[in-house]
Amino acid sequence: MIDILVVTKNKGKLREILDIFGFKNINLKTLKDFPPIEIEESGNSFFENAYIKAKKAVEAFNVISMGEDSGLVVKVLDGKPGIFSRRFAGLNATDLENNVKLLELLKGVPLEQREAYFISSVVVMKPDGSYIKGEGKLEGYIIDEMRGTGGFGYDPIFFIPQYKKTLAELGDEVKNKISHRYRALMEIKRQIKDFLSL
Ligand code: IMP
Repeated sequence: MIDILVVTKNKGKLREILDIFGFKNINLKTLKDFPPIEIEESGNSFFENAYIKAKKAVEAFNVISMGEDSGLVVKVLDGKPGIFSRRFAGLNATDLENNVKLLELLKGVPLEQREAYFISSVVVMKPDGSYIKGEGKLEGYIIDEMRGTGGFGYDPIFFIPQYKKTLAELGDEVKNKISHRYRALMEIKRQIKDFLSL
């Protein structure tokens, strides 16, 4: 068995990654299995932040590590909240506060102009610094109210026309088969056998 450390403190994200990324001979570890570390998201892109997370853990623990950075991009807001999705309404903002802020900013904007997408960037790095990367997107619209109780983050306001539901209404089972995170992890899965000589 090969261990890979999933470098995230976000419980919603971790639950989804563990759910999506099943792979024979790979055992996913979490930050709970290691001493605490501080990771600053100082990059200028989703990829840079995913890279920083993986590298920081590799350097601290000398173990193969998976960094993931994700966020929501709203076209009419010039890409906001983007890489600042988690701290959109402030450094320690809750998901609810972030959703409320976004709804406020979009007040009066008609639905057809509320296009948005989620993006997930994943980096898996070995202790020697070599790495593979994957990226996934999920397109939808930001509606003008919160609907549903599943998922996390901006899921209650992210509407998928194909299902006529928000991600929070869809639930984990469907979300984890269509999401940006699922797509990024599938790209990783396609490369991981060669990368780790499995
Ligand atoms: P990160 O920990 O810096 O990658 O922050 C990601 C943030 O983007 C989360 O805290 C959410 O606000 C948002 N986000 C990322 N992925 C999702 C998702 O699948 N659903 C809802 N919000 C998400």
